[in-house]
Amino acid sequence: MSIHRVPRKAFQLQEVSINDENIGLVFSDQFNNILDKKTAIKYVEMLTVAYNSKGIDEFIKNHNEESQFLQELEYNLNTSYLKYSRNGEGKYIIKKQTEFNEKTFRNDLEKPWAFKCATCNKKVSSETALHYYSVQNPTTTYSDTERTCSNSCGFIVWKEKLLNWINENGYGEFVFIED
Ligand SMILES: [Zn+2]
Repeated sequence: MSIHRVPRKAFQLQEVSINDENIGLVFSDQFNNILDKKTAIKYVEMLTVAYNSKGIDEFIKNHNEESQFLQELEYNLNTSYLKYSRNGEGKYIIKKQTEFNEKTFRNDLEKPWAFKCATCNKKVSSETALHYYSVQNPTTTYSDTERTCSNSCGFIVWKEKLLNWINENGYGEFVFIED
Protein backbone atom coordinates (compact mmCIF):
# COMPACT_ATOMS: atom_id res chain seq x y z
CA MET A 1 0.00 0.00 0.00
CA SER A 2 1.08 3.53 -0.51
CA ILE A 3 -0.32 6.99 -0.16
CA HIS A 4 -1.20 8.85 -3.35
CA ARG A 5 -1.08 12.53 -2.76
CA VAL A 6 -3.72 13.72 -5.18
CA PRO A 7 -5.02 17.18 -4.60
CA ARG A 8 -8.33 16.73 -2.83
CA LYS A 9 -10.37 19.01 -0.71
CA ALA A 10 -9.43 18.96 2.92
CA PHE A 11 -12.33 17.92 5.09
CA GLN A 12 -12.77 18.14 8.78
CA LEU A 13 -15.20 16.41 11.06
CA GLN A 14 -17.70 18.66 12.71
CA GLU A 15 -20.10 17.89 15.52
CA VAL A 16 -23.68 18.97 14.76
CA SER A 17 -26.96 19.32 16.66
CA ILE A 18 -30.45 19.47 15.26
CA ASN A 19 -33.05 20.98 17.62
CA ASP A 20 -30.46 20.89 20.41
CA GLU A 21 -29.95 17.18 19.93
CA ASN A 22 -26.44 16.13 19.13
CA ILE A 23 -26.66 13.92 16.04
CA GLY A 24 -22.96 13.19 15.66
CA LEU A 25 -20.38 14.11 13.05
CA VAL A 26 -20.54 15.50 9.53
CA PHE A 27 -17.87 16.42 7.02
CA SER A 28 -17.29 20.09 6.42
CA ASP A 29 -14.90 21.74 3.99
CA GLN A 30 -12.49 24.62 4.42
CA PHE A 31 -15.29 27.13 3.74
CA ASN A 32 -17.39 25.56 6.51
CA ASN A 33 -19.85 24.09 4.01
CA ILE A 34 -21.25 20.77 5.17
CA LEU A 35 -21.00 18.01 2.58
CA ASP A 36 -24.32 16.83 1.14
CA LYS A 37 -25.52 13.36 2.09
CA LYS A 38 -24.76 11.60 -1.22
CA THR A 39 -21.18 12.86 -1.38
CA ALA A 40 -20.58 12.20 2.31
CA ILE A 41 -21.87 8.63 2.10
CA LYS A 42 -19.59 8.04 -0.92
CA TYR A 43 -16.59 9.11 1.19
CA VAL A 44 -17.75 6.98 4.13
CA GLU A 45 -17.89 3.96 1.81
CA MET A 46 -14.40 4.72 0.51
CA LEU A 47 -13.14 5.04 4.09
CA THR A 48 -14.80 1.75 5.03
CA VAL A 49 -13.10 -0.06 2.14
CA ALA A 50 -9.70 1.39 3.04
CA TYR A 51 -9.96 0.75 6.79
CA ASN A 52 -11.18 -2.81 6.22
CA SER A 53 -8.31 -3.63 3.86
CA LYS A 54 -5.91 -6.41 4.68
CA GLY A 55 -2.76 -5.06 6.31
CA ILE A 56 -4.25 -1.68 7.10
CA ASP A 57 -3.15 -1.66 10.76
CA GLU A 58 0.45 -2.36 9.89
CA PHE A 59 0.33 0.15 7.06
CA ILE A 60 -0.92 2.88 9.39
CA LYS A 61 1.69 2.04 12.01
CA ASN A 62 4.54 2.12 9.47
CA HIS A 63 3.26 5.26 7.83
CA ASN A 64 2.97 7.12 11.12
CA GLU A 65 6.39 5.96 12.26
CA GLU A 66 7.96 7.19 9.04
CA SER A 67 6.04 10.43 9.23
CA GLN A 68 7.26 11.06 12.76
CA PHE A 69 10.81 10.10 11.79
CA LEU A 70 10.74 12.63 8.94
CA GLN A 71 9.34 15.34 11.19
CA GLU A 72 12.18 14.75 13.63
CA LEU A 73 14.67 14.79 10.78
CA GLU A 74 13.35 18.11 9.55
CA TYR A 75 13.39 19.52 13.07
CA ASN A 76 17.01 18.42 13.45
CA LEU A 77 17.91 20.02 10.11
CA ASN A 78 16.23 23.25 11.12
CA THR A 79 18.10 23.37 14.41
CA SER A 80 21.48 22.91 12.72
CA TYR A 81 23.69 25.06 10.50
CA LEU A 82 22.95 22.86 7.50
CA LYS A 83 21.39 24.45 4.46
CA TYR A 84 19.20 22.15 2.43
CA SER A 85 16.57 21.86 -0.23
CA ARG A 86 14.16 19.05 -1.08
CA ASN A 87 14.21 17.33 -4.43
CA GLY A 88 11.24 15.99 -6.37
CA GLU A 89 11.34 12.72 -4.43
CA GLY A 90 11.21 14.50 -1.09
CA LYS A 91 14.87 13.77 -0.29
CA TYR A 92 16.84 16.38 1.63
CA ILE A 93 19.81 17.69 -0.35
CA ILE A 94 22.46 19.33 1.80
CA LYS A 95 24.27 22.30 0.33
CA LYS A 96 28.04 21.94 0.53
CA GLN A 97 29.93 24.35 2.72
CA THR A 98 33.33 25.10 1.23
CA GLU A 99 34.32 28.24 3.10
CA PHE A 100 34.90 28.35 6.81
CA ASN A 101 35.56 30.88 9.50
CA GLU A 102 38.97 32.34 8.64
CA LYS A 103 40.88 33.34 11.75
CA THR A 104 43.94 35.55 11.83
CA PHE A 105 46.74 34.60 14.21
CA ARG A 106 47.31 37.19 16.86
CA ASN A 107 50.59 38.98 16.23
CA ASP A 108 51.08 40.20 19.78
CA LEU A 109 51.93 36.83 21.27
CA GLU A 110 55.22 36.48 23.07
CA LYS A 111 55.33 32.77 22.42
CA PRO A 112 54.34 31.42 19.03
CA TRP A 113 51.22 29.32 19.05
CA ALA A 114 50.57 26.29 16.90
CA PHE A 115 48.15 23.45 16.38
CA LYS A 116 47.85 20.42 14.13
CA CYS A 117 45.32 20.53 11.31
CA ALA A 118 42.38 18.26 12.18
CA THR A 119 42.44 16.82 8.66
CA CYS A 120 46.00 16.62 7.32
CA ASN A 121 47.76 16.76 10.68
CA LYS A 122 50.10 19.45 9.37
CA LYS A 123 51.49 21.79 12.03
CA VAL A 124 50.06 25.27 11.62
CA SER A 125 52.06 27.89 13.51
CA SER A 126 51.64 31.59 14.16
CA GLU A 127 55.31 31.90 13.16
CA THR A 128 54.71 30.79 9.59
CA ALA A 129 51.01 31.16 8.83
CA LEU A 130 48.77 34.22 8.84
CA HIS A 131 45.45 32.42 9.02
CA TYR A 132 43.80 29.24 10.06
CA TYR A 133 40.21 28.01 9.82
CA SER A 134 37.71 27.22 12.50
CA VAL A 135 35.21 24.61 11.36
CA GLN A 136 31.95 24.30 13.26
CA ASN A 137 30.16 20.95 13.30
CA PRO A 138 27.30 21.82 10.94
CA THR A 139 24.83 19.37 12.49
CA THR A 140 24.48 21.21 15.78
CA THR A 141 24.28 24.79 16.98
CA TYR A 142 26.25 23.84 20.09
CA SER A 143 29.80 25.04 19.84
CA ASP A 144 31.82 22.13 18.41
CA THR A 145 34.75 23.31 16.35
CA GLU A 146 37.95 21.95 14.88
CA ARG A 147 40.90 23.89 13.51
CA THR A 148 42.23 23.29 10.03
CA CYS A 149 45.02 24.69 7.84
CA SER A 150 42.80 25.48 4.85
CA ASN A 151 39.25 25.61 3.53
CA SER A 152 39.78 22.33 1.68
CA CYS A 153 40.83 20.58 4.92
CA GLY A 154 37.84 22.30 6.55
CA PHE A 155 35.50 20.75 4.04
CA ILE A 156 36.77 17.27 4.93
CA VAL A 157 35.98 17.89 8.63
CA TRP A 158 32.59 19.30 7.67
CA LYS A 159 31.76 16.29 5.53
CA GLU A 160 32.92 13.80 8.16
CA LYS A 161 30.74 15.42 10.85
CA LEU A 162 27.79 15.40 8.49
CA LEU A 163 28.26 11.75 7.43
CA ASN A 164 28.60 10.67 11.07
CA TRP A 165 25.36 12.43 11.89
CA ILE A 166 23.59 10.82 8.92
CA ASN A 167 24.82 7.35 9.93
CA GLU A 168 24.16 7.71 13.65
CA ASN A 169 20.58 8.81 13.03
CA GLY A 170 19.81 6.41 10.19
CA TYR A 171 19.17 9.26 7.75
CA GLY A 172 21.00 7.58 4.85
CA GLU A 173 17.89 7.02 2.74
CA PHE A 174 16.68 10.57 3.14
CA VAL A 175 19.66 12.93 3.36
CA PHE A 176 22.22 13.45 0.60
CA ILE A 177 25.05 15.89 0.02
CA GLU A 178 24.72 17.87 -3.22
CA ASP A 179 27.04 16.83 -6.09
ZN1 LIG B 1 45.14 20.58 6.66
